[in-house]
Amino acid sequence: MRLIALEEAFSIPRLTARHPGLTDLGPIPVSREFGRHVARRLPDFTELRLPEMDRYGVDTQVLSHTAPGIQADLTAEEAVDAARFANDYLAKIVAAHPTRFAGFAALPMQDPKAATAELRRAVGELGFRGALVNDHTGGRYLDDPVYEPFWTTLEDLDVPLYLHPGAPAAERWKVTDGAAELIGPTFTWGAETGGHALRLLYSGVFDRHPRAHLILGHMGEYLPFMLSRLDSRYATLDPGRTLDRAPSAYVGTNILITISGVQSPAALAGAVLAIGADAIMFAIDYPYEYTEAATTAFATAPLSDADRHKIAHGNAERLLKLQP
Ligand code: MN
Repeated sequence: MRLIALEEAFSIPRLTARHPGLTDLGPIPVSREFGRHVARRLPDFTELRLPEMDRYGVDTQVLSHTAPGIQADLTAEEAVDAARFANDYLAKIVAAHPTRFAGFAALPMQDPKAATAELRRAVGELGFRGALVNDHTGGRYLDDPVYEPFWTTLEDLDVPLYLHPGAPAAERWKVTDGAAELIGPTFTWGAETGGHALRLLYSGVFDRHPRAHLILGHMGEYLPFMLSRLDSRYATLDPGRTLDRAPSAYVGTNILITISGVQSPAALAGAVLAIGADAIMFAIDYPYEYTEAATTAFATAPLSDADRHKIAHGNAERLLKLQP
């Protein structure tokens, strides 16, 4: 069974040397050992990555520049330059291994016009499958009206936007004071990115752009397990704006998820029940997570054969136009 992994990170030494913030995960208190593990694997493609893919049956990694990436504190000019550099670099890696790697573009959201142009170039000229953005950019979220042409372009090109966590924090959360364990993937990233996706949903982005697809990692950043509450509480609100559909109706249709970093057969089975197997795709979160743990959890999840094939490759082949 073909296995396509959608949230797989890399870095570029020459670019990181120019802009160290691009790979700086900020105040997350990672151990020295884990820091070394990741630093060795991020810039590598053939020495460790491909053998690990071979060993655990991962056919294709869809690569994206690691967080915070272009959403780090760059000027618009630096961001435009860094995104172009990163995308040209990734295009060469994919060209050298066209069946093993595919690419999501990095985008300079600091300059919405340039980001839209870079998306067009990355998809049209470099053959990328969509783009990956790390949450907000300088406190500006993607429901901002300046991004309307960007959403239209995503629809025109028929490619998804992967909304990944890890931008520099927009504000300091008191709930993490004295509890640094909560910072990053344990808690704040899921809440921040799930919140970002909800902003988009409630602002009507998917009513204005019904053909747009947003991908969330980490089993959907909590959302699949909150659908009933989203709907029941929305019915009690008078927010001064309306949606075409119930909030839950956008999750599993416009908003799709990957299982990256959640190695739980139970959670995957629950997500299938909540949003359907057509809306879920395999991912590892390499090198931050271990390929063996991700593939073992997926292999042992209680899924029908048909659902397992959809999640392993069928949905990604359709959405990313990866040839079966
Ligand atoms: Mn990730």
